[in-house]
Amino acid sequence: MTSSVSGSPCALCERPATELIEPPRRTLARGLDPSDPSYSVTVILPDVALCAGHALEVQNGERLLGWCDDERCRAYGELGGSSACGDPYKKLGSGNRS
Ligand SMILES: [Zn+2]
Ligand SMILES: [Zn+2]
Repeated sequence: MTSSVSGSPCALCERPATELIEPPRRTLARGLDPSDPSYSVTVILPDVALCAGHALEVQNGERLLGWCDDERCRAYGELGGSSACGDPYKKLGSGNRS
């Protein structure tokens, strides 16, 4: 029995999500808090909701997940694909370099 992911669509397609998987990276440094520049904001990312097929592809490394941190999105999608706000989904993880 898989835990059900009520109501969320898959991050990569329109189908209902059936799996939650660990994101490639759990935290995201958002930079300085605009209301308090001495404080930098790190957000904890949620699990990724995926349909069964996409969960397999992601776990096998056939698809790469990205994250859009625009406040209108804050959602996962396929790395490099365009998100709802128009920006591409960006790579998560080990990058100070790009
Ligand atoms: Zn899917
Ligand atoms: Zn976006």
